Amino acid sequence: MTGDVDSPFWWSDSTGDVHVAFTSAEAGNVATHIGDSQAALTNRADLAQHLGAAPRFLDQVHSAEVCDADTAGEAAPTADAWVGTASAPLAVLVADCLPVLFAGIDRDHRPITAAAHAGRQGLLAGVLERTAAAMRARGAQSVTAWIGPGACGGCYEVPADMLEAVAVNRPSIASRTSWGTPALNLRAEARTVLESAGADVVDVPGCTIEDPQLFSHRRSQRTGDPQGRFAGIVWF
Ligand SMILES: [Zn+2]
Ligand SMILES: [Zn+2]
Repeated sequence: MTGDVDSPFWWSDSTGDVHVAFTSAEAGNVATHIGDSQAALTNRADLAQHLGAAPRFLDQVHSAEVCDADTAGEAAPTADAWVGTASAPLAVLVADCLPVLFAGIDRDHRPITAAAHAGRQGLLAGVLERTAAAMRARGAQSVTAWIGPGACGGCYEVPADMLEAVAVNRPSIASRTSWGTPALNLRAEARTVLESAGADVVDVPGCTIEDPQLFSHRRSQRTGDPQGRFAGIVWF
Protein backbone atom coordinates (compact mmCIF):
# COMPACT_ATOMS: atom_id res chain seq x y z
CA MET A 1 0.00 0.00 0.00
CA THR A 2 1.32 3.45 -0.88
CA GLY A 3 0.47 6.28 1.50
CA ASP A 4 -2.15 8.94 0.78
CA VAL A 5 -1.51 12.67 1.11
CA ASP A 6 -2.17 12.81 4.87
CA SER A 7 -0.16 9.73 5.69
CA PRO A 8 3.45 10.08 6.87
CA PHE A 9 4.13 6.74 5.23
CA TRP A 10 5.81 6.00 1.92
CA TRP A 11 4.58 2.42 2.22
CA SER A 12 2.78 0.36 4.86
CA ASP A 13 1.44 -3.14 5.39
CA SER A 14 -0.15 -5.30 8.07
CA THR A 15 -0.24 -8.96 8.97
CA GLY A 16 -2.54 -10.05 11.76
CA ASP A 17 -2.11 -7.48 14.53
CA VAL A 18 1.31 -6.33 13.38
CA HIS A 19 1.84 -3.23 11.23
CA VAL A 20 4.94 -2.18 9.33
CA ALA A 21 5.65 1.12 7.60
CA PHE A 22 8.38 3.25 6.07
CA THR A 23 8.06 7.02 6.37
CA SER A 24 8.41 9.37 3.40
CA ALA A 25 10.81 12.27 2.88
CA GLU A 26 7.73 14.49 2.87
CA ALA A 27 7.04 13.46 6.47
CA GLY A 28 10.46 14.95 7.21
CA ASN A 29 13.77 13.99 8.71
CA VAL A 30 13.39 12.00 11.94
CA ALA A 31 17.09 11.75 12.87
CA THR A 32 18.06 14.19 15.59
CA HIS A 33 21.78 14.00 14.68
CA ILE A 34 21.21 15.50 11.21
CA GLY A 35 20.35 19.11 10.44
CA ASP A 36 17.77 20.85 12.60
CA SER A 37 17.25 18.58 15.62
CA GLN A 38 14.24 20.59 16.76
CA ALA A 39 12.53 19.97 13.41
CA ALA A 40 13.35 16.27 13.73
CA LEU A 41 11.71 16.18 17.16
CA THR A 42 8.62 17.89 15.73
CA ASN A 43 8.50 15.31 12.92
CA ARG A 44 8.81 12.53 15.51
CA ALA A 45 5.92 14.04 17.49
CA ASP A 46 3.75 14.17 14.35
CA LEU A 47 4.60 10.54 13.70
CA ALA A 48 3.72 9.60 17.29
CA GLN A 49 0.37 11.29 16.87
CA HIS A 50 -0.33 9.33 13.71
CA LEU A 51 0.76 6.03 15.31
CA GLY A 52 -1.03 6.69 18.59
CA ALA A 53 2.23 5.94 20.46
CA ALA A 54 5.74 7.36 20.41
CA PRO A 55 8.11 5.35 18.23
CA ARG A 56 11.32 4.24 19.95
CA PHE A 57 14.66 4.94 18.27
CA LEU A 58 18.13 3.39 18.56
CA ASP A 59 21.54 5.02 18.72
CA GLN A 60 22.78 3.27 15.56
CA VAL A 61 26.48 2.55 15.02
CA HIS A 62 26.56 0.14 12.03
CA SER A 63 27.13 -2.85 14.31
CA ALA A 64 25.51 -6.29 14.55
CA GLU A 65 24.26 -5.52 18.06
CA VAL A 66 20.65 -6.56 18.71
CA CYS A 67 19.10 -5.12 21.86
CA ASP A 68 16.16 -6.29 23.91
CA ALA A 69 13.44 -3.65 23.59
CA ASP A 70 11.55 -5.07 26.59
CA THR A 71 14.41 -4.38 29.02
CA ALA A 72 15.92 -1.29 27.35
CA GLY A 73 15.32 1.91 29.26
CA GLU A 74 13.93 5.19 28.01
CA ALA A 75 17.21 6.36 26.48
CA ALA A 76 18.02 5.19 22.95
CA PRO A 77 20.12 2.02 23.30
CA THR A 78 23.33 1.77 21.27
CA ALA A 79 22.56 -1.04 18.82
CA ASP A 80 21.48 -1.58 15.20
CA ALA A 81 18.48 -3.81 15.79
CA TRP A 82 15.99 -4.57 18.46
CA VAL A 83 13.51 -7.25 19.27
CA GLY A 84 10.57 -7.03 21.63
CA THR A 85 7.17 -8.29 22.70
CA ALA A 86 5.50 -4.99 23.60
CA SER A 87 3.19 -3.04 21.33
CA ALA A 88 5.29 0.18 21.32
CA PRO A 89 6.54 1.05 17.83
CA LEU A 90 10.17 0.04 17.22
CA ALA A 91 11.96 2.18 14.63
CA VAL A 92 15.23 2.21 12.71
CA LEU A 93 16.59 5.19 10.78
CA VAL A 94 17.95 4.85 7.27
CA ALA A 95 18.89 6.68 4.09
CA ASP A 96 20.43 4.08 1.71
CA CYS A 97 21.02 1.35 4.32
CA LEU A 98 18.24 -1.25 4.37
CA PRO A 99 15.52 -1.07 6.99
CA VAL A 100 14.36 -4.63 7.75
CA LEU A 101 11.21 -5.13 9.84
CA PHE A 102 10.24 -8.43 11.43
CA ALA A 103 7.02 -9.92 12.73
CA GLY A 104 6.49 -13.31 14.31
CA ILE A 105 4.14 -15.04 16.70
CA ASP A 106 5.00 -17.33 19.55
CA ARG A 107 3.34 -20.59 20.56
CA ASP A 108 0.57 -18.67 22.34
CA HIS A 109 -0.01 -16.41 19.32
CA ARG A 110 1.58 -13.39 20.97
CA PRO A 111 3.38 -11.05 18.57
CA ILE A 112 7.16 -10.67 18.58
CA THR A 113 8.54 -7.76 16.58
CA ALA A 114 11.98 -6.58 15.51
CA ALA A 115 13.56 -3.88 13.41
CA ALA A 116 17.09 -3.83 11.99
CA HIS A 117 19.30 -1.21 10.33
CA ALA A 118 21.28 -3.15 7.74
CA GLY A 119 23.80 -1.12 5.80
CA ARG A 120 26.89 -2.64 4.26
CA GLN A 121 28.76 -2.85 7.56
CA GLY A 122 25.89 -4.20 9.65
CA LEU A 123 24.86 -6.67 6.98
CA LEU A 124 28.41 -8.01 6.69
CA ALA A 125 28.74 -8.12 10.48
CA GLY A 126 25.64 -10.33 10.63
CA VAL A 127 22.96 -8.01 12.01
CA LEU A 128 20.18 -9.81 10.12
CA GLU A 129 21.29 -13.31 11.14
CA ARG A 130 21.42 -12.10 14.74
CA THR A 131 18.01 -10.40 14.61
CA ALA A 132 16.35 -13.49 13.14
CA ALA A 133 18.03 -15.60 15.85
CA ALA A 134 16.79 -13.19 18.54
CA MET A 135 13.24 -13.60 17.19
CA ARG A 136 13.56 -17.39 17.44
CA ALA A 137 15.08 -17.13 20.92
CA ARG A 138 11.93 -15.23 21.94
CA GLY A 139 9.87 -18.16 20.76
CA ALA A 140 8.88 -17.00 17.27
CA GLN A 141 7.36 -19.97 15.47
CA SER A 142 7.34 -18.18 12.15
CA VAL A 143 9.11 -15.03 11.03
CA THR A 144 8.12 -12.59 8.30
CA ALA A 145 10.75 -10.05 7.24
CA TRP A 146 10.05 -6.95 5.15
CA ILE A 147 13.12 -5.66 3.33
CA GLY A 148 12.46 -1.96 2.92
CA PRO A 149 13.79 0.62 0.48
CA GLY A 150 17.53 1.27 0.27
CA ALA A 151 20.28 1.89 -2.26
CA CYS A 152 19.71 -0.65 -5.03
CA GLY A 153 22.24 -2.93 -6.68
CA GLY A 154 22.21 -0.79 -9.80
CA CYS A 155 23.15 2.39 -7.90
CA TYR A 156 25.31 1.39 -4.93
CA GLU A 157 28.74 1.85 -6.48
CA VAL A 158 31.79 0.71 -4.50
CA PRO A 159 35.53 0.35 -5.24
CA ALA A 160 36.43 -2.86 -7.08
CA ASP A 161 38.62 -4.10 -4.22
CA MET A 162 35.75 -3.71 -1.75
CA LEU A 163 33.40 -5.71 -3.96
CA GLU A 164 36.04 -8.39 -4.36
CA ALA A 165 36.65 -8.62 -0.62
CA VAL A 166 33.01 -8.90 0.45
CA ALA A 167 31.74 -11.10 -2.39
CA VAL A 168 34.14 -13.92 -1.42
CA ASN A 169 31.95 -14.97 1.49
CA ARG A 170 28.68 -13.41 0.37
CA PRO A 171 28.34 -13.96 -3.39
CA SER A 172 24.77 -12.65 -3.63
CA ILE A 173 25.99 -9.17 -2.74
CA ALA A 174 27.97 -8.80 -5.99
CA SER A 175 26.44 -6.36 -8.44
CA ARG A 176 27.14 -3.84 -11.20
CA THR A 177 25.83 -0.32 -11.43
CA SER A 178 23.57 0.54 -14.36
CA TRP A 179 26.66 2.25 -15.82
CA GLY A 180 28.76 -0.91 -15.49
CA THR A 181 31.00 -0.36 -12.46
CA PRO A 182 31.39 -2.55 -9.33
CA ALA A 183 28.45 -2.33 -6.94
CA LEU A 184 26.81 -4.03 -3.97
CA ASN A 185 23.30 -5.46 -3.92
CA LEU A 186 22.40 -5.27 -0.23
CA ARG A 187 18.81 -6.38 -0.90
CA ALA A 188 19.84 -9.61 -2.63
CA GLU A 189 22.22 -10.44 0.20
CA ALA A 190 19.57 -9.60 2.82
CA ARG A 191 17.14 -11.94 1.08
CA THR A 192 19.72 -14.76 1.03
CA VAL A 193 20.43 -14.33 4.74
CA LEU A 194 16.78 -14.08 5.76
CA GLU A 195 15.70 -17.07 3.70
CA SER A 196 18.53 -19.15 5.18
CA ALA A 197 17.19 -18.14 8.59
CA GLY A 198 13.79 -19.54 7.60
CA ALA A 199 12.01 -16.19 7.27
CA ASP A 200 9.24 -15.43 4.79
CA VAL A 201 10.64 -12.46 2.92
CA VAL A 202 8.55 -9.55 1.65
CA ASP A 203 10.48 -7.33 -0.74
CA VAL A 204 9.43 -3.71 -0.58
CA PRO A 205 11.13 -2.52 -3.72
CA GLY A 206 12.35 1.02 -3.81
CA CYS A 207 15.70 2.68 -4.36
CA THR A 208 16.53 5.60 -2.10
CA ILE A 209 19.06 6.99 -4.60
CA GLU A 210 16.44 7.05 -7.38
CA ASP A 211 13.27 7.98 -5.48
CA PRO A 212 13.15 11.59 -4.19
CA GLN A 213 10.23 10.59 -1.93
CA LEU A 214 12.84 8.87 0.24
CA PHE A 215 15.97 10.28 1.90
CA SER A 216 19.29 9.20 0.39
CA HIS A 217 22.66 10.01 1.89
CA ARG A 218 24.44 9.39 -1.42
CA ARG A 219 22.01 11.41 -3.55
CA SER A 220 22.01 14.37 -1.14
CA GLN A 221 25.83 14.48 -1.24
CA ARG A 222 25.71 14.70 -5.04
CA THR A 223 22.66 16.87 -5.71
CA GLY A 224 22.30 18.96 -2.57
CA ASP A 225 18.85 17.44 -1.93
CA PRO A 226 17.78 17.78 1.72
CA GLN A 227 19.65 15.49 4.07
CA GLY A 228 17.74 13.32 6.47
CA ARG A 229 16.74 9.86 7.58
CA PHE A 230 13.37 8.20 7.20
CA ALA A 231 12.13 5.50 9.53
CA GLY A 232 11.17 1.87 9.22
CA ILE A 233 8.65 1.13 11.99
CA VAL A 234 6.98 -2.04 13.31
CA TRP A 235 4.22 -2.03 15.94
CA PHE A 236 1.02 -3.74 17.05
ZN1 LIG B 1 22.89 3.40 7.92
ZN1 LIG C 1 18.91 2.45 -7.59
